[in-house]
Amino acid sequence: MTADSEVKPRQAAAGPPPAQAPRACHGCGEPLGAGALFCERCGAAQPGAPKCPHCRTAAKVSSHPELRCICYACGAPRISVAARGIELSGKEIRPLRRAREAWRARLAWRIGGAFGAAGTGFVLLATALAALLGVGIVGTGLGVLVSLPFLLLALLALARSRQRTADVVQAIDDAWKSAARDVAEQAAKPIAAADLGAALGIEEEQAEGLLAALTVDDELEAEVTDQGRLSFGRPVRIAADAEAPAGEPEAEVEQALDEQAKARAER
Ligand SMILES: [Zn+2]
Ligand SMILES: [Zn+2]
Repeated sequence: MTADSEVKPRQAAAGPPPAQAPRACHGCGEPLGAGALFCERCGAAQPGAPKCPHCRTAAKVSSHPELRCICYACGAPRISVAARGIELSGKEIRPLRRAREAWRARLAWRIGGAFGAAGTGFVLLATALAALLGVGIVGTGLGVLVSLPFLLLALLALARSRQRTADVVQAIDDAWKSAARDVAEQAAKPIAAADLGAALGIEEEQAEGLLAALTVDDELEAEVTDQGRLSFGRPVRIAADAEAPAGEPEAEVEQALDEQAKARAER
């Protein structure tokens, strides 16, 4: 009797959970909403939650003023799909890495720039004091000369960090455009900015900007729905290319190659 009652719960625990059971957070036990990838209460990632391409953690993302979305675990720029059933192609990972590198390089240049500016200020201040104390023209000139490398470093760092800022903006843009393209291509019908915003977890205006940019690049085509809203889908041109008859000419070429091979084998 006791053996039975001991075995049963163990078997139940080892077996797979019943398919119909409501899902609960493995961290805190809170019931999960349909399709939720993260627990609303404790934030724990649930099975199927996307992993960060930089640190491979299934961490949440948080919004960022310049990088738009960053990994909660490593702080690198990320794009996370907020809805189940849509997968990013992975083409966004390279520009995201580029953004991270440019961001780090800019930090280094900013530190260098601060060092250069502080050095310039310090040497010039010391030179001014020395001039007041009467070191003469040669001593003052020497002081100014010593400050020059610091000044050059500060100016170079300023220019470089501005360049890196532009690189970050460009890379983040490329990554988000790629993600928006993925969502639009996987959608069954043309999508509106609100749909894209919901899928990528961003504001509708941001989504609108992405769709507009892809339309300018001829990668998407805008159309007005019956309700007077704008929706975006793949251009008809690409769909036509995909449907172009490809079988016959290729089959002919293959046949010809086969015959050539046979002829060569017979020789
Ligand atoms: Zn939880
Ligand atoms: Zn990460």
